[in-house]
Amino acid sequence: MSKGATKNILVVGGGTAGAVLAARLSENSGLAVTLLEAGPGDEAYHASVLEPGRTYEVWAGTLPTATCNMASEWGDIPARQGRILGGTSALNASATLRGQPADYNAWKSAGLDGWGWDDVINTFIAAERDADFGSSPLHGNSGPLPVRRWRRDEFTVKHKAFMDGMAEVGVHAANDINDPAQLPGVGVFPATIDEQSRRVTTSLAYLTEEVRSRQNFTLRTQAEVHRVCIENGRATGVILTSGEELQADEVVLTAGALYSPTLLLRSGVGPGAHLADYGIAVQADLPVGATMSDHLGPAVYYSHEGAQGGNGGPAQVVLVGASNGTNVDYHGLPLHWTENEGRTEFQVVTFLLRSSGRGSVRLGESIDAEPNVVAPPMPDDTEVRLSHAFRALAAWEQSAAARAIDVRQLGEPRDLTAAGAVTAALEQGIFSYFHMTSTCPMGTVLDADCRVHGIDGLRVADASVMPTIPSGNTYLGCVMVAERVAQKMKAEYGSQN
Ligand SMILES: Cc1cc2nc3c(=O)[nH]c(=O)nc-3n(C[C@H](O)[C@H](O)[C@H](O)COP(=O)(O)OP(=O)(O)OC[C@H]3O[C@@H](n4cnc5c(N)ncnc54)[C@H](O)[C@@H]3O)c2cc1C
Repeated sequence: MSKGATKNILVVGGGTAGAVLAARLSENSGLAVTLLEAGPGDEAYHASVLEPGRTYEVWAGTLPTATCNMASEWGDIPARQGRILGGTSALNASATLRGQPADYNAWKSAGLDGWGWDDVINTFIAAERDADFGSSPLHGNSGPLPVRRWRRDEFTVKHKAFMDGMAEVGVHAANDINDPAQLPGVGVFPATIDEQSRRVTTSLAYLTEEVRSRQNFTLRTQAEVHRVCIENGRATGVILTSGEELQADEVVLTAGALYSPTLLLRSGVGPGAHLADYGIAVQADLPVGATMSDHLGPAVYYSHEGAQGGNGGPAQVVLVGASNGTNVDYHGLPLHWTENEGRTEFQVVTFLLRSSGRGSVRLGESIDAEPNVVAPPMPDDTEVRLSHAFRALAAWEQSAAARAIDVRQLGEPRDLTAAGAVTAALEQGIFSYFHMTSTCPMGTVLDADCRVHGIDGLRVADASVMPTIPSGNTYLGCVMVAERVAQKMKAEYGSQN
């Protein structure tokens, strides 16, 4: 332990949330903070990580990722998570959205004090340095995360036609899709990129040279944790897969929505009957891994004439839709491309945002194996709700902006307005937004300070803790969770700077 520090904190997982949490906790010189990351450090980022226009290369496998599959009723989905310092923020599409006020107000109404919109909005603002909106009621200009919206000269041809065509057929063109008052609408994604248009992961933004040189901060990469040690109802440290044991006053899991629950299950925190199947002694009988959420949906396939153009990230423009006209509940996202015989092929994925369906994370073939992950089912009203998105796409196909680039549906052209069109598209394939959350939720598994019920000295602070999935992209929510858990822990331990 470093000189002067009185408490040893182990942060397990140097990903999106873990990098934020470790940086913030180590601001308190009374805490000796060790960040344990299973993958390599961020010196391993290569150009395809830092250049958003090359993100598809990362998705094709140029970065270490988790390897488990998500089973779904519509087919298996390879579950992606970054296995490197910065975690999934090193491979995501950099879309920097917060979700809707109602999402967080529902958390507060469920008894989670401190997690309502009026609470979390201040954290979102404090985390960002927004180059477009700066210091304004909804935005900040002094946080660690640089944020700006993709510029028109960076747009791909399809994103430009999507933005213009949707506005042309009557969808509201929002200039800030983080402003709830401007939705539903079509708009440009804010992205966590710097002035030179390079990706900024949470490790680059928060684990600065100054943080890495702190006496009370230790970063260990290639340090995969196997489980948490729990004695007499208290976490005492962790065991690495190498067999090394580390002692701690407190352990915080930030291994992401698939691996934080896996670590808890291996440690005896989970559904008693499931643990018994593996001969694991139960330390706390809790519904760990039982309530996973994600945003899922089908795609419509298109091509347009010419090359894809642009040099921004894969997700630049999005239709933020509301099937009942007011409550945001789906995204329509133009994605992917291949250039083929003078044309560019792409898809528009329609992701359902509000769904009570729950998937699961369980131990796999053995305690040490990859977890068994089941995606949440698509809800019964999927056809009704996403048909709203399909009708918007049908209208967009007829817009002058789409016709100007000769947008055509690929394969068997489908009448997107016909009954059953959504289900037919799902039968062709299902897509995950990779927004897995809620596997160790506050409420049932954790208290409102993210402490594991019934176990002292053990918390979770990543996408797993969200009681319900926000109706937006999840990465910024993980930053917010880590910032707020750090504040709570620093308040509990008392600040010593
Ligand atoms: C392809 C893709 C695109 C996405 N695009 C977007 C987007 O544009 N916008 C958005 O908001 N969201 C996006 N998401 C989702 C978003 O990035 C995630 O919700 C978020 O980053 C999760 O953060 P986390 O801290 O919970 O986990 P992670 O960032 O995944 O961090 C977990 C960390 O824990 C480490 N770890 C795991 N197990 C262990 C262990 N046993 N020991 C030690 N370390 C361990 C991992 O290596 C990793 O570094 C995307 C996700 C994917 C996969």
